[in-house]
Amino acid sequence: MTTSPSSPRYPLQGVVSWNMNTTCGYRCSYCTQRFVDDRTQWARDLPRFVEAFTTLAGDWEIKLSGGEPFAHPRFIQTVRELASGGLRVSVVTNLSASQDKLAAFAQATAARPGVLSASLHLEHVQPVAFRDKLARFAKLGRCHATTVATRAVLPRLPALVALFAEAGLELRIQPEKQDRDVIDYTPAERVALLALGGHNGTGVVDPDLSGRPCWAGSRYFIVDHRGQAWRCYPARRRRREFLGNVLDGSLRLRDAATVCPYAYCNCTVPQQRGMVDTSTA
Ligand code: SF4
Ligand code: SF4
Repeated sequence: MTTSPSSPRYPLQGVVSWNMNTTCGYRCSYCTQRFVDDRTQWARDLPRFVEAFTTLAGDWEIKLSGGEPFAHPRFIQTVRELASGGLRVSVVTNLSASQDKLAAFAQATAARPGVLSASLHLEHVQPVAFRDKLARFAKLGRCHATTVATRAVLPRLPALVALFAEAGLELRIQPEKQDRDVIDYTPAERVALLALGGHNGTGVVDPDLSGRPCWAGSRYFIVDHRGQAWRCYPARRRRREFLGNVLDGSLRLRDAATVCPYAYCNCTVPQQRGMVDTSTA
């Protein structure tokens, strides 16, 4: 195991990104899952998932995503059980769920609120209606919006950011990816992306953190709907740094930060939680 004396400090709260289903009612042109053969899959053995997550050592947050996690047939029940187990629960959603379901999520997580990250998909929804729905949720829980900066949308983004700001909401930008990597933006488009805060407000478009110690694999990891776990999204895409399965007892987390081998990091959590040094990335 490779460690470094300059490793970031031990993160007190770990984070699991759990892609709990592939199901989604939308078909976005830039969806990273659009080539998945079967988009009707979901995590089925929920008691074992809940047990696996609630028995992780230390303090953890579970970040639910999919597909569209609210489309999981037992989504709210799962949130309640994870929260009852003492976990902070956050969600990444396209906000297509009913207001009642959104309120149920806020209520289930009220004791230890996570964050609802609402993805604005302009191919499917009107921005004003989406903003107003998110503003109603904002009275119940913590939230922000994100949207993918396709070439066609990029010129509209400053106005969209202002539209959300009018309602006291933050709209963060995510660079478009195709075939694993950020698309070939022009220099002028990159300047525009940076003016909007870069990827999810990190101040960069496509950070290269390779060679730096990172706590992903120890205090952050990715789990799919079958329980398969990887160090982070770049690791899963390349089928490297597999950590085992959370359902069969084979999960093995690392006990220290280890060097990042990837030339492009699109994992916001380790970057924003101080799990890797992002200076001059
Ligand atoms: S809403 Fe999300 S999961 Fe659904 S198609 Fe769009 S990008 Fe993919
Ligand atoms: S790609 Fe990002 S999350 Fe993964 S090891 Fe590198 S810095 Fe950490």
